[in-house]
Amino acid sequence: MNRPGHSIVIVPFGGEILEHLGDVAESIQELFGLPIHIEDDRGIPGFALDPVRQQYNSNVILKELIGTCPPGGLKILGVTAVDLFSPIFSYVFGEAQFSGRGAVVSSYRLRGDGAAVDARGCPPLVSRLEKECLHELGHTFGLRHCSDPDCLMHYSVGVECADRKFSFFCPACRDLMLWHMASDLFLKSR
Ligand SMILES: [Zn+2]
Ligand SMILES: [Zn+2]
Repeated sequence: MNRPGHSIVIVPFGGEILEHLGDVAESIQELFGLPIHIEDDRGIPGFALDPVRQQYNSNVILKELIGTCPPGGLKILGVTAVDLFSPIFSYVFGEAQFSGRGAVVSSYRLRGDGAAVDARGCPPLVSRLEKECLHELGHTFGLRHCSDPDCLMHYSVGVECADRKFSFFCPACRDLMLWHMASDLFLKSR
């Protein structure tokens, strides 16, 4: 049984990405070594739709996620297929609360050509989505952007950057992530 406060909660917000959520969850579980809990699909996040831009505000989704994180959740990650924006950017792959609890990622801008089907038979979109989920969760564990282009915490300016990165942290980011995780778990257990 999971101890309370120790899992990463994944919240699906509708869309075609749902069929690959199991693969995404598995890579999150592997990298962070924490139990994963997938919630029921909450559907398209209409509450975050900006009627003028016809895009979805990632700040609003983050706020909703943080406010609805179950007691057993150490981190909460929203996954969606809608086009996300943050007020100062024309679009974002995702957004996270630095050293906080919530993150949200979208597959919308991760389509496009490039890498072929991977060893699991998944389209390139899946591995890009996984890397962006791991990257945003890295921010919630106190990691900033990393200059190593192979590291998960390298800032992706396009899908090519996401394709180039490995699915793990460089040694320096990994050490820092483990340190932050230990302190988050300690604070949660008190
Ligand atoms: Zn980032
Ligand atoms: Zn790094």
